[in-house]
Amino acid sequence: MKKNLLLIALCLALSSISAQTKPVRIIIPQKPTESEHYAAKQLQTLLQKGGLETHIHTRNDDTPQSGSIYVGTCPFVNTDGYRNNAYAMLGDGNFFVLSGKGEKGTLYAVYDFLERYCGYRLFTPEALETKELHSFSIPTDTALNIAPAFDYREVLYFYPNNSQLYTDWHRLNNRADLNRDWGMFVHTFKNLIPHERYFDSHPEWFSMRNGQRVRDGQLCLANPYVLDTLCRNLQKMVDQNPQAKIWSVSNNDNYNVCQCSECLKLDSLYGGPTGTLLHFVNQVARRFPDKTISTLAYQFTRQAPQGLKVHPDSNVNIMFCSIECGRELPLETNPAESAFCNDMRNWQKISDNIFMWDYIVQFRNFWDPFPNLHVLQPNLRFFRDHGVKMMFEQATGEKNITSWMDIRCYLTAKLLWNPDLDADSILNDFCNGYYGIAGPYVKSIIDTMTSIVATSGQRLNIYGFAIDACEGYLAPKYMDQYRKMMALAYAAATDSIIHQRLRFFELSLDFATVELAAGGAFYEELFPEGDKLDKVRQMYSMLNRMVDDLNRFGVSQMMEMGISPDQYRELIARYIEKTFSYSNSYFRPVELRKPPTEPYTNEGGQDLTDGAGGILDYRYYWLGFYGDTLDAVISLGATDTVKHISMDFYFYPLSWIFLPQQIDYYISNDKKNWRLVGHHTPENPEILATPMIKTFNTDLDKPTKASYLRVVAIPLPQIPLWHRATGQPAWIFTDEIIVN
Ligand SMILES: [Zn+2]
Repeated sequence: MKKNLLLIALCLALSSISAQTKPVRIIIPQKPTESEHYAAKQLQTLLQKGGLETHIHTRNDDTPQSGSIYVGTCPFVNTDGYRNNAYAMLGDGNFFVLSGKGEKGTLYAVYDFLERYCGYRLFTPEALETKELHSFSIPTDTALNIAPAFDYREVLYFYPNNSQLYTDWHRLNNRADLNRDWGMFVHTFKNLIPHERYFDSHPEWFSMRNGQRVRDGQLCLANPYVLDTLCRNLQKMVDQNPQAKIWSVSNNDNYNVCQCSECLKLDSLYGGPTGTLLHFVNQVARRFPDKTISTLAYQFTRQAPQGLKVHPDSNVNIMFCSIECGRELPLETNPAESAFCNDMRNWQKISDNIFMWDYIVQFRNFWDPFPNLHVLQPNLRFFRDHGVKMMFEQATGEKNITSWMDIRCYLTAKLLWNPDLDADSILNDFCNGYYGIAGPYVKSIIDTMTSIVATSGQRLNIYGFAIDACEGYLAPKYMDQYRKMMALAYAAATDSIIHQRLRFFELSLDFATVELAAGGAFYEELFPEGDKLDKVRQMYSMLNRMVDDLNRFGVSQMMEMGISPDQYRELIARYIEKTFSYSNSYFRPVELRKPPTEPYTNEGGQDLTDGAGGILDYRYYWLGFYGDTLDAVISLGATDTVKHISMDFYFYPLSWIFLPQQIDYYISNDKKNWRLVGHHTPENPEILATPMIKTFNTDLDKPTKASYLRVVAIPLPQIPLWHRATGQPAWIFTDEIIVN
């Protein structure tokens, strides 16, 4: 490269030609590829946006033309030895070369040029910041060969999947790239040997758990028929999609590894369940030598085989996942993640084909601020330095608009290309460019949050809740500080676009406030003004404004398992209603005839009449009964009447929480003779991972005098057949009984 540059420099006149005096000539090859042509057109269009006159010409000789930018293949640089999509930027003040390898290399060079030398930024697909280019001149003394740290770079977020400009500008891959290369992506045992098709005739092909074969588990990898059938089914899929290069043969998304005696023998032979899996996958890979077979190092197969007893074949890809890790500190310096780091090092010893599946958002609550920006860079460096070739940053998916998406996606994209960039400079550049004069205030909120997370010692969990941080980065004193910063930011910002961007950022603070208040943490501090009713009004008004704005920004889902903003509004309104409306049962004594199950005991029976309704986080205000009946007697006042009875139950099969099979309400005046007044037999839908709260109401014909109310709720006899934990006892969860 340097040699080339020197040679060219000798051939050229020394005078630098400014673009002010002449239009810039963009010179393309005589036979440009489609992508070179597109790159040149993009360069022309975007330079013209900055007021610079440009013309596209076809190159007709090998003498560099001054005042020209060469786009694509040209005689002045040879990109043959470059990595795919790497590129050269070469200039001496007279002419400039933007030339890359592969489909995107030259286009990447163009966008990099616009950022680096023209000051352009693409903050979001809608926020392209251009600059006036009056004083533009061809850059001097440039000889750069720029290559990505990772061959594959995906951030699974909305922008890269809804704007090709954004994807290309930030040199990312997106779902379309993935779908082209991968025949099947992940958790594929269920596709390769579907239990619907095979379980009834061949239960022995599926994993054995606690002495019985389970439908929704893994496969029995010791069974030779499993290997043959899986390969036959895979072959059919390959025949239908021969272009796809990579096929995943990997665990389903559950822990139910086979415990049959044959599998246990293989585990001890090959160094654990990962060894058994790898031995199996190698055999598949040998039958598909021209394909790459990818498998999962995930949860119970995250550890490389003990003693490194099996090595992956050369066409086996290891998809290594960091799902359990905390995000409060960089992986390598987090004492809690030393086992993960060891696993990474062990995989590096036996594989040079590692696909890293990393997680960068709060999946349980998409609108939590989730201040993890400080760990992105060190973690990416760690992955790069341990042989990772393909990098997948799972965020909130291709459809969801979520908190900090603009800033987190931007920073992650930059670091995926080059994890040695200075993350703080990128953040400053983003904040000052995107929020203008209000930028430093937003940056200061981010800095405060991340530094509290990094120093508090508290875990930052990708499946957490705002309330987890109620004494950390979301403590009232800090929330107060963030609100003050936001007020200064709004006051500084002059235009409505910046106000909208600030509002988008602020929504994460509103969400945290509502969550903390609904979770009962610091209600007083978060809404310090007025009496109880005023506080309720303030919370309602914050909730309503937040949900209206979330809808306006196009938010469809508040968490990985669903829940739209309007459904969220309903849930919180239900909590407010329960907590602040009057019930005859409030604070009445409750006798539990069977105790709740640890750790979901809360305040015991009093939890049912304490006026605090349960929220979507089942750890708070809910009573749990594991495989056992809820049998509660509430002592009402001597003169009380009952007209309406209402009770909520939580439904979340992923955590083994089901609705009871039967709920009965009884009343009595003497605690001996009970009269049945309400009877419910709830249906349990086959929905695994969407949490729901279901209310069971009973209305009596007329107000009826009753001194006692009894509730009996009977759990399912066992977890149903369709569920991966079939046969185990089911939980029931309830929170509050309302009597009027
Ligand atoms: Zn087995």
